[in-house]
Order: sequence, then C-alpha cells, then structure tokens
Amino acid sequence: MNEFELINHVRSLNETLGSRVVLPPGDDLGGLGFGPGVVVLAGVDQVIGGVHLPVDASPERYARKVICRSLSDVAAMAALPAGALVTAAVPVGLSADWGPRFADALNRIATQYDCPVFGGDVAAFANSAAPPLVTATVLASPDDSMSGRFLTRSGAQPGDEIWVSGFLGGSLRSDGSGHHETFEPRVGLALAIHRLIGESLHSMIDLSDGLVSDVGHLAVESGVKMTLESDSLPRRGAATPAEALSDGEDYELCFTVDPSVELPDCLDEIPLVRIGSVHSGAGVVILEDGVEVDFSSRGWEHRT
Ligand SMILES: [Mg+2]
Repeated sequence: MNEFELINHVRSLNETLGSRVVLPPGDDLGGLGFGPGVVVLAGVDQVIGGVHLPVDASPERYARKVICRSLSDVAAMAALPAGALVTAAVPVGLSADWGPRFADALNRIATQYDCPVFGGDVAAFANSAAPPLVTATVLASPDDSMSGRFLTRSGAQPGDEIWVSGFLGGSLRSDGSGHHETFEPRVGLALAIHRLIGESLHSMIDLSDGLVSDVGHLAVESGVKMTLESDSLPRRGAATPAEALSDGEDYELCFTVDPSVELPDCLDEIPLVRIGSVHSGAGVVILEDGVEVDFSSRGWEHRT
C-alpha cells in the first residue's frame, strides 16, 4: 500500500470518528470541538535522520526543522500556535550534549513563534546505528479576531484566483542545504492575509509536497479544477518553471481568493503573486504560454 492508498484508507474511517472531530484527516491540521465555538486544531510532523535531514545533522537542525514544519501547517489554517509537544528517539551512544542542545534550540525557535514546548518524551534506540527520529505535535487555536474562522483545503470555488507567497522551487541544494532548512513558517503572513480580506480568502494550504501536488490537494478537497500559469510562478534563484511546479519543501502559502478582491503584491515584506485560477471540474492543469500542457508526461516528479 503506497502513501496515497494509506491516506485514502485512513480517510475511509472518518465517518466513524464522531461529532467531536470537526476537521477529520485530510487537511493540514485536524480539529476537535469542545462545545460551542471552542475548537482546538492539532497536527504532528516527524523528521527522520537520513530521510528529512542528513543522519549526522546537528541537534539544532533537527529542532528547527521539526518545529517549523509543524508551524507551517498552523499557517496553512491561518491559525494561532498555542503550544507543542515534542518527542525524540535517538540512537544509544549519541553524544551527551545532543539532548540539551536539541532542547535549547527547540525552546529558542518555538518561543519566537509563541508556541511553547510544554511537554514531550525522550527515548533511546538500542541500536547505535539507528537514525535520530524527532516529532512535533503542535496545537493551535482559530483566530478570535476573525470570529474563530480558520482556513481549510476545501473552500476553493470556481472563479477564484490562486495566489502564492514568496518564491518556489530549488529548496534542496545538491549539498543537502537550502531553503528547506532556513524557511520561516508563514504564520504571521497567513493571519495578516486573513485579517485583510476576511471571507474572501476561501482556501489555503502550505506548500510541502510541491506546488502541483499541493494544489492537487486543494482541487480534490474543494471539488474543483485548478489551472496554474507556469509563466507566472515566482521562482527561487535559478529554479526552472518545472522545478517551481514540482519541487517540495517551499513552505510557502498557496491560497484561493474571490476574484473581486484586490491583494497587495507584498505584505509583511513578503511577495504575493497570482499564479492561476479555479474552475469547475477536477484536477490540475498547467498553462504554458497560454497552452495547456500535460505535466505528468514530462517527468516533473515530486523530488523530495
Ligand atoms: Mg501542510
């Protein structure tokens, strides 16, 4: 069973979850309701040595990546971070200062985002060759100043414009470094966009799998067709249009808005660019010089 089949299997269980689950698996965070108007959003991410970072990456790199990935999902909902729980399983024999350095870095970064780490667990693998495995479970609350409204992947409507923040592609350099480790979760930007245009902001996701994949999630959850204009994509450095479409780990916001809304081309000093439009139908279409191209036949595959 591949990842998508497993996700579909998990989602087949959604109807068994009961009424307390106000946002079931399928979005950037899940949501639990605790009575009228009280919703807690939560999500968990993991970082595995040798998969998401080099095995011997510093504890500071593990800390930054695991908390920032989770915070990017909070941004995707235009929600406010509340706090995080973190686990670390490390190989026996790892240097004694790994744990304190990990904790210090975690505390420093989480505090910047007003997301205190208020609990967790540590364990050691018996095998000294096992890679570090760290997780962050982040809790978040909807924005009170927006009457508790939060964004999901399911609100895109035909006629909407598709926008992204920042720049896309080339997140992972050949030496393993790059934007995927230095990105700033767009928590403040998401709140600012939502507060600026309110209910004209219809749907949102953070870009982790690659633009086409993630826009595909919006298309599926919203039941619409998404058209991306490859000439419009804001590209990072020397990234090609194909890389901007398919590279992962941009951790930017992709969102759809009512076409009557005027968005600024920059907010909080972060560029905002219109990259396409939403239509009736299904799937993701790429326009190149105004002509539809089938990206799946061109080998633009998810790289990370
Ligand atoms: Mg996400």
